[in-house]
Amino acid sequence: MKLVFATNNKHKLEEISAMVGDKIKILSLNDIDCHDDIPETADTFEGNALQKARYVKEKYGYDCFADDTGLQVVALNGEPGVYSARYAGEPANSERNIDKLLANLEGKTDRRASFITCIALISGGEEHLFYGEIEGSIIGERRGSSGFGYDSVFMPDGYDETFAQMGEEQKNKISHRAKAVKKLSEFLNTL
Ligand code: IMP
Repeated sequence: MKLVFATNNKHKLEEISAMVGDKIKILSLNDIDCHDDIPETADTFEGNALQKARYVKEKYGYDCFADDTGLQVVALNGEPGVYSARYAGEPANSERNIDKLLANLEGKTDRRASFITCIALISGGEEHLFYGEIEGSIIGERRGSSGFGYDSVFMPDGYDETFAQMGEEQKNKISHRAKAVKKLSEFLNTL
């Protein structure tokens, strides 16, 4: 069985391919010669994930899945949410995004936040959604150097290190994305 993952992110492709095993061949957008800038204009994670998966299914005919992830901060009414990648505007840049996040949280005692991943799968004419979430808090300054995005300021509950301090191996065992990918791969293994 062949399934397109609507991404060209190598890390994400390797992670999911390892989890689903040999039964399913995961193709990237490059593999199907899709070089389009796929629209992602919804205002929810599931809306964006579905929009991307439907685009590939309708235009290229492949069964497909797509993901959307963001950081939700309680004291900022869920911001940056679906706008996590471009929180500080263009050019999209993690350092500027973190600066804006820390500035907006200055003086706030409620630092609770969570990462949420939604994966939308279109398979056999049906749509399925899989979620993963991890709760934690935004600390006052950057700590650690691994990872990407907001990793250096996000400390998951129950740990005294940020995602950027714990390193990729540990992060990938507990992260929002790992949880969503695990649910997807369990489902795919039942097909
Ligand atoms: P995407 O939907 O996976 O492209 O993620 C959107 C944005 O959310 C990224 O550009 C990052 O700013 C942020 N993000 C997603 N996943 C993570 C993560 O695991 N750690 C830190 N930031 C993340």
